[in-house]
Amino acid sequence: MKYVSAVRSAVLIKEFKTVLLGSKKWVGRRKEACPLLKGEEPRWASLYSTLVLRPAWDISWRLLHGAVSMGVFLVRFTPIPDTCPFCGMRETLEHIYLECTRLQPLFWLLTNILLIFWLHFSPHLLIYALPVRGPTKSRDLLVNLLLALAKVAIYKTRVRRLADGVSCNCGAYFRSSVHSRLRAEFLWAASTDSLDTFEEQWALSGVLCSLSPSGSLHLTF
Ligand SMILES: [Zn+2]
Repeated sequence: MKYVSAVRSAVLIKEFKTVLLGSKKWVGRRKEACPLLKGEEPRWASLYSTLVLRPAWDISWRLLHGAVSMGVFLVRFTPIPDTCPFCGMRETLEHIYLECTRLQPLFWLLTNILLIFWLHFSPHLLIYALPVRGPTKSRDLLVNLLLALAKVAIYKTRVRRLADGVSCNCGAYFRSSVHSRLRAEFLWAASTDSLDTFEEQWALSGVLCSLSPSGSLHLTF
C-alpha cells in the first residue's frame, strides 16, 4: 500500500514539474505567437468580467499560464498518445486552442459575429480578451463573454472526446451554449420585469437575439 502511494506521489510530482516546465515554454511561445501590444497588459478585468461565469475564468487563466494537460506531456507517464484526438497532429497547447482544423467552424462563427460588431477576430483577442471601454461597454462585455464561451467549448469538447471518444462539433457546442445563456437571461428578465435591461445588454444591435413587440425572444444567430 505504501509502495502504491509512493508511486502515485512520484507520478504527481513528475506531472507537476512537467506542467510547470511546459508552462514556461508555452508562455514564451504565447508571447511570440500572440505578443502583447505596446504598453498592453493581460486584461484580467476583461477575462473576469461580470457576464463571464467561473468555469470560463479558470480556463482563461490556465490558457494564459500554460497550465493545461495535453498530449505532448501526458504521453510521458500515461497511456494517452501525444497526438490530437481529432486530427492526429502533435498535440501542443497552440494546437488545442488555436491551430486544430476542428476549430475552423467555431472561428468562422466568431469572425462573422465580431464583424457585425465592427471587430476583427484573432488569436490575440481569444487569448487576451477585449479591453472594456466606457462608450462601448455593453458590446465589449458581450464580446468577452462570447470569447470565454468559445474557450469553454474547445475545452469541453476535447474532454468529452478523450473520455468517451464522442465527436462533438465545437461550433455547434458554442452556439448551443450561447443560446442556453440567452434563454436563461431572458427568462430571468421576464420574471423580474426587466426586459428593457435585457434588451440593452443581450439584444445589442440584434446580433445574437431580438425581442418581438409582444416581448418574446427571437434568437438571430
Ligand atoms: Zn487537432
